Amino acid sequence: MTNDSLLLDASQRLEQALKYTSISEDAIESLKFPQTSLNVSIPVRMDDGSLQVFQGYRVRYDDTRGPGKGGVRYHPNVSMDEVQSLAFWMTFKCAALGLPFGGAKGGITVNPKALSRLELERLSRGYIDAIADFIGPDVDILAPDVYTNSMIMGWMMDEYNIIRRHICPAVVTGKPISMGGSLGREAATAMGAYFVIAAMLPKFDQVPQATTVAIQGFGNAGGILAELMFAAGYQVVAVSDSKGGIYAKQGLDIPSVRRRKEATRGIQEPYCDGSVCETKDYDLLTNEELLKLDVDVLIPAALENQITEVNAPDIKAKFIFEVANGPTTSAADKILESKGIYVFPDILVNAGGVTVSYFEWVQNRSGLYWVLEEVNQRLKSRIVEEAEHIWAIARDLTVPLRTAAYIHAISRLGEAISAKGTRDYYVNGHGKH
Ligand code: NAD
Repeated sequence: MTNDSLLLDASQRLEQALKYTSISEDAIESLKFPQTSLNVSIPVRMDDGSLQVFQGYRVRYDDTRGPGKGGVRYHPNVSMDEVQSLAFWMTFKCAALGLPFGGAKGGITVNPKALSRLELERLSRGYIDAIADFIGPDVDILAPDVYTNSMIMGWMMDEYNIIRRHICPAVVTGKPISMGGSLGREAATAMGAYFVIAAMLPKFDQVPQATTVAIQGFGNAGGILAELMFAAGYQVVAVSDSKGGIYAKQGLDIPSVRRRKEATRGIQEPYCDGSVCETKDYDLLTNEELLKLDVDVLIPAALENQITEVNAPDIKAKFIFEVANGPTTSAADKILESKGIYVFPDILVNAGGVTVSYFEWVQNRSGLYWVLEEVNQRLKSRIVEEAEHIWAIARDLTVPLRTAAYIHAISRLGEAISAKGTRDYYVNGHGKH
């Protein structure tokens, strides 16, 4: 790990939480490193007849509590370090939510928007061909992440079925409903974040109508959350995507912003060309300006490392709800804490996605499918219960919410690691009989 390693930064959160737990040395040692890190080369026949080779990754960080679980990211900046960090966060997220999974993640270094739909399908199937021996419903289960969606999950499941010669829906979650996907999975990350926000803000007497909100990232997570918050009466004053953002002091009309952005997506196309910036009715602002707006609630819902020691001193929001994975660096955390800003951490706030992925896996394995109300009710009760638990740890130990979330996760992980270990047989270097 280099000094600017994302994983090194992520694992510092673990160090901060360790002093509040009685976790065994075995468990600490096991959690320092990813269990398996796979790097594959994926040859793809391009539409012009040429061959291009892409780099792909799959990391299983820890599977003590169950099979690995984690999304697959398509992005030009994907690297082994990033995938390992995302797998690390998944390990703690699954433990914090009490899901019977370990943590995993995958990715391909690619600009998917530069590929045709057929090239994208060949790449996705090629990725599964390369990692098929390392995944499976009881080994490691895939899901969508940045720039991957249900259509891509469908191709991946189909390719796995072809290789295994049987139908195996539980190897991938976030699939199309017609292929065994769960109702509610598409909106689950946003819905989970919404349930956490709606449960936590009343503790500060913050009512929706008097709460201004800025959201960075307008995709599956940020876009749907913006709509849920708008519908609940929050004043969503700014949103952004990779091309920039829009702002209106009196609040944006989120459904019309979403409609305009989505209108640029062709039927069945995985990505839309449009940007929220093309909604001409509002002022434009940069992603950096959005983060520094004087709002009550700031929601990073794009990529990691957005709030750093450089811009943290200028953040004016009272509350940050992390919908993206790893949007705040550990150096920024200290600055935000000193400013009295409450940071509700990613491993809690965005856990709705993996929670409904778990429900999808359960439905695939039982063969019994739930109605939408049941999915959302189960999601709400689980995520709010864990949020309250984390809130109570933070209050009782006077620690930041992130540290509390890690304490909560580590206690479950530590118990599982110790339960399968043999340390108790070795006292002072001697075997105990
Ligand atoms: P997505 O591909 O649907 O959307 C990503 C959004 O981020 C797009 O609006 C894109 O324009 C924007 N974006 C990209 N680069 C940006 C930049 N430099 N600045 C500002 N915006 C930028 O992805 P998603 O599924 O919404 O994922 C967003 C975040 O949420 C990621 O950190 C992801 O790991 C996390 N997350 C997603 C899920 C899920 O189920 N989809 C679950 C948990 C966590």
